[in-house]
Amino acid sequence: MSETFKALLVEKTDSGQTASEKELNLSDLMEGDVLVDVSHSTVNYKDGLALTGAAPVVRHWPMVPGIDFAGTVLKSSSSEFKTGDQVVLNGWGVGETHWGGYAERAQVKSDWLIKLPDAFTPAQAMAIGTAGYTAMLCVMALEDHGVTPEQGPVLVTGAAGGVGSVAVALLSKLGFDVHAVTGRVSETSYLQALGAKEILPREDFAGDPRPLGKELWAGAVDVAGSKVLANVISQMKYGGTVAACGLAAGMDLPTSVAPFILRGVTLAGIDSVMCPKPRREQAWARLAKDLDISKLEAMSHTLKLHDLTAVGEEILAGKVRGRIIVEID
Ligand code: NDP
Repeated sequence: MSETFKALLVEKTDSGQTASEKELNLSDLMEGDVLVDVSHSTVNYKDGLALTGAAPVVRHWPMVPGIDFAGTVLKSSSSEFKTGDQVVLNGWGVGETHWGGYAERAQVKSDWLIKLPDAFTPAQAMAIGTAGYTAMLCVMALEDHGVTPEQGPVLVTGAAGGVGSVAVALLSKLGFDVHAVTGRVSETSYLQALGAKEILPREDFAGDPRPLGKELWAGAVDVAGSKVLANVISQMKYGGTVAACGLAAGMDLPTSVAPFILRGVTLAGIDSVMCPKPRREQAWARLAKDLDISKLEAMSHTLKLHDLTAVGEEILAGKVRGRIIVEID
């Protein structure tokens, strides 16, 4: 086994940070009981923050970003994994406090890994990535709160992004009438191909929300937060549920209690990073069953490690469509 490996390393400088490809040694890796030969990673919104430094998600320097990866176990001192097992990792602070997926090697805790589902190749698992697994957690939250297609249409915000694209594809496959909110109406045919019935411009959700609007949605998946989420909450039908996972529009939430106390609306918070392992495994099993692979292919494209420095800015600017797979080797 080679003692060196290639990685994208983010380092602090006097004026901020730099990201560049480096040759590192296995002995540089952080502690972990499983060594993985990483074949694929991906670019999520949070990776954009780490690559650019736009928000302080990196909390250990230098850092190998990449909040998720798929690969093959090279060495393991855990009884749960053996050499040759194919594995997937999402979250747990990887790419933030622990070296992540933008490298040929990763050394992590076995508790953080799950087995790659048989339904997916490593590249497909990373086409899904943390964004797609989060979309599945959002859909599961709607189901947990009893949202069914018979109750009316569901809404997905940031629909042309990573979480949004997978959420549209999943909800339409499950028989929901999906309305997609996007700032890029030019992506109408893309969103329709994923299964969206109606495309709504983001401006419709950008104004100051009324405490209670017209009752439109039985369920919603929101990646935006801020006024967008506040408008969505005010438009929920009686007893509806919003799964909130993101902050693409902002961290704030200028809403009132009216939709909660007068319409019994539920705001379900979604966290993928520390989500317990059984729920993760359930989400990946559901992705294997409920995600149409041809739609996954239509929503993803592949980049190499050396392409990543530019893509950080693009994803934060909302310019990336669907999902990016990062081919490591
Ligand atoms: P993407 O950049 O791929 O998608 C975000 C989408 O949001 C954009 O494509 C755009 O879609 C829309 N958008 C961008 N800017 C704004 C804005 N100002 N107002 C409203 N909508 C906007 O990111 P991801 O899909 O990877 O992540 C989406 C969000 O979910 C991020 O905030 C991320 O941090 C969060 N997230 C949270 C997780 C969790 O565990 N809670 C896990 C994964 C992601 P369009 O052009 O169609 O409008």
